Amino acid sequence: MLLTFLGTSAANAFPEAFCKCNNCEQARYLGGPSLRKRSSLLINDDLLIDLGPDIMAASQFHGCSLTKVSYCLQTHPHADHLDLSHLLSRSPEYGVVGAPCLNFYASQETLQRAAQTFERDLAGDNLLSPDTQKYLNLKIHVIDPLHPFTFGNYRVTAFPANHAPSMGALLYAVESNGKSIFYGIDTATLFEQAWQAFHQYKMKFDVVILDHTYGPEQPGSDHLSAHQVIEHARRMRNEGLLTPDARVFASHIAHEGNPAHPMLVEFAKQHGYEVAFDGLVLEV
Ligand SMILES: [Zn+2]
Ligand SMILES: [Zn+2]
Ligand SMILES: [Zn+2]
Repeated sequence: MLLTFLGTSAANAFPEAFCKCNNCEQARYLGGPSLRKRSSLLINDDLLIDLGPDIMAASQFHGCSLTKVSYCLQTHPHADHLDLSHLLSRSPEYGVVGAPCLNFYASQETLQRAAQTFERDLAGDNLLSPDTQKYLNLKIHVIDPLHPFTFGNYRVTAFPANHAPSMGALLYAVESNGKSIFYGIDTATLFEQAWQAFHQYKMKFDVVILDHTYGPEQPGSDHLSAHQVIEHARRMRNEGLLTPDARVFASHIAHEGNPAHPMLVEFAKQHGYEVAFDGLVLEV
């Protein structure tokens, strides 16, 4: 699997355009990997995790076309992860040529929320109706959490996230060609139910990507902090959930408590994990 990080920031981007805090000023000064867009991940050239607000900018900036994307796994409907205007802009009605049908996978709650927003703020149409999906070149699939499903070359298991409970937020294990990754964004401390399911399905991850909203000096709350990322990585290793060469990456990084990229990399190195950045490509 080829992983391309299209964005690695928390909800407010990093630097936050309106913010003069030390972390934002430092990131502006350093540029490069310190500049983070809102989180989204591209797997190979056909699977997207989150139809996020910055994917157009990411595609342009990192020279990474989304023309072959035919699957999207949506974590939840928060605005830093889901921009429904992309469903309109990628449709033939808006002049898009040659895009495959987009198979959009999400929880029932996320789809209900998305349908409300789409009808109220965007098109006035019912997103879930077959006619709307047809004109959008879209096919919607409801995910049953903790029950693996397959499409294309992928086998996916969705786990309830400890985040936005009324929205059915999901985390994903994606397996393909004998390799396996875990995308753990957005979430606070993983539910025991998720750990049990990792074991039930005998999962062994080659790459783990974890929510790192809060930095080294902050406690976690509705998202993980640096120290909780360290604890989660340790528990995964101790419980045999990682392959011997597995790599753990922080993403969804907020400006309030995290330093600019090079300093965060130094901290992470001392604690056995790595820090993702926008445009990072990993071969798994
Ligand atoms: Zn988020
Ligand atoms: Zn700031
Ligand atoms: Zn969220």
